[in-house]
Amino acid sequence: MHKQIAVIPGDGIGPEIIRQALLVLSAVAEKFGHSFAFTEVDMGGCAIDTWGEPLPEAMLEKCLASDSVLLGAVGGEKWNSVPGHLRPEKGLLKLRAGMGVYSNNRPAKIWPQLASASPLKQSIVNQGIDFIIVRELIGGIYFGEHKTETVDGETVAVDELMYTESEIERIGRIGFETARKRNKKLCSVEKSNVLDSSLLWKQVMHRLAAEYPDVTLTDMLVDNCAMQIVKNPAQFDVIVTENMFGDILSDEASMITGSIGMIPSSSLGDSSCGLYEPIHGSAPDIAGRDIANPIGTVLAAAMMLRFSFNLDKEADAIENAVGQALDKGYRTADIMPQDTKEAADCQLVGCKKMGETIVQMIKEA
Ligand code: NAD
Repeated sequence: MHKQIAVIPGDGIGPEIIRQALLVLSAVAEKFGHSFAFTEVDMGGCAIDTWGEPLPEAMLEKCLASDSVLLGAVGGEKWNSVPGHLRPEKGLLKLRAGMGVYSNNRPAKIWPQLASASPLKQSIVNQGIDFIIVRELIGGIYFGEHKTETVDGETVAVDELMYTESEIERIGRIGFETARKRNKKLCSVEKSNVLDSSLLWKQVMHRLAAEYPDVTLTDMLVDNCAMQIVKNPAQFDVIVTENMFGDILSDEASMITGSIGMIPSSSLGDSSCGLYEPIHGSAPDIAGRDIANPIGTVLAAAMMLRFSFNLDKEADAIENAVGQALDKGYRTADIMPQDTKEAADCQLVGCKKMGETIVQMIKEA
C-alpha cells in the first residue's frame, strides 16, 4: 500500500517526538511491504517565524492533498504576545476546520506496566481504566465569536457558545457507534442545568438513543463527570461531549492513566483522511533535551494506520512493540516510577532511545 502522509513537526518537543514516530512508521512499512511518503508541513510558531502566519493556505493545501496528517505539537512562550488571530494554536483550529474533522477520539487506558504511575489510589486503578472520550472538535465556544470591547468605560470580553442540532447529531452518532463497538455504554456529558446549548445537546442525544437500542445512554453534568473520572473511572466506557468540556475532561483523564506523554488521539470527519496527534502540547519546558516521551505520538501513528488506512495488523505491531519496550523496563522520565524499589527494575531512557527500542521491537517481532 502506498500512502502520502503530511507531517507537522511544529514547535517545542514536536520535532523530537515526530522524528521517532516517522522511524517507527518506516520500520512498519519495511516489515509489511508498504511505502509511506512523508511531506513536511509548517504550522504553529515555526510557520509564524517563516511565513508570518500559523498555517498558510499552501500548507493547509498540502494537508488536504494527503491521505492523513500526523502532528507533533505547536505553541510556546515566544509567540504568546502575537495578536490573537496569529497565535500558533489558531493554526491548529484552522487545520481542524479545514479538514472538517469534527470528532476527536481520545482513549484513556492504563498500561498495566504503568499502573503505579497513576496518581489515583491503587484500589481505584485496580478496578481498571479503559474508556474513550469522543469530543466535538469544530464547534462550540472555541469557534464562536470572541470580542473584547469597552462598555460604560469598562472592558468587557465575550465568547459565544453555539451548537446547531446537526452538529450535535453527527458527533452523537460517533458516540453511539463507538459505544456499539465496545461495551455499549455511552455517557453524554453536558451542563443542561445552566446552558441552553447543553439542553439541546441532551435532547438530541435522547432522540438518537431510540436508534441505538443496544447502547445504554446515561447523562452526566460536566462538574460531576470531572469528579467521577477520579473517583470511579471504571464506570465509563464511552463519554461523548462538546468541545470545551471534552478538552478539559480529556486532559484530566490522561493524567489518571499515568502521563500525558502516553496518550494519542485521532480526529476524523466524513472522509478517511484524519488528523493524528499526541494529546499533549509542545512542552517548551523540556524541549531540545531528548527527555520527552515519544509514545503518545508513536501510538497516534498506530491509530492512523488502524482508522485511516485499515492496517490493523500493522497498528497492532506498533502497540505490541510499545508494550514490549515497557515490559523490558524502558522508561522516559515522565513515566519513571517514583518508588526506588520499582525504579530498580527500570531503565531511564531519552526520547531517541525509546523510539529506537520500539523500532527494534517491531523488527524483531
Ligand atoms: P504541555 O502538554 O505542553 O505540557 C504540560 C506538562 O506535561 C509539562 O510539564 C510538559 O513537560 C509535560 N509533557 C507534555 N508532553 C510530554 C511528553 N511527551 N513527555 C514528557 N512530558 C511531557 O502543556 P502546556 O505546558 O500547557 O502548553 C505548552 C504549549 O503547548 C502552549 O503553547 C500550548 O498552547 C501548547 N499546546 C499545544 C497543543 C497542540 O499542539 N495540540 C495542545 C496543548 C497545548
